[in-house]
Amino acid sequence: MITILFVLVVVAAVVAMGLKRRAKAQARRASLQGPGMSPEGAIAIRTFADMDDELRRRHCLCGARFSLAGEGTRDVGGRPLRVARLYCDECDESREVFFDTSTLLQ
Ligand SMILES: [Zn+2]
Repeated sequence: MITILFVLVVVAAVVAMGLKRRAKAQARRASLQGPGMSPEGAIAIRTFADMDDELRRRHCLCGARFSLAGEGTRDVGGRPLRVARLYCDECDESREVFFDTSTLLQ
């Protein structure tokens, strides 16, 4: 009897752990799909201040604020895109955020 209870407790723990892991993976996937997370979803900016504001608003899944690891320009299909690399010091997560600079005010 005690053995069965023990087995049930272990099974419940394993299932709970699996569900937790799946929820975490889902949250991570969702966070990789928002605006700016791909060249196709590049965020149109009018000024570079817009870009700074957008980057400042972003938080890592762990709750920490991202720090800016680098910036560069990338030509994607003839469209000049600004790419910001974000890095989380807390959990080593990193992101690239794409901005469409063709809408910049000259
Ligand atoms: Zn983090």
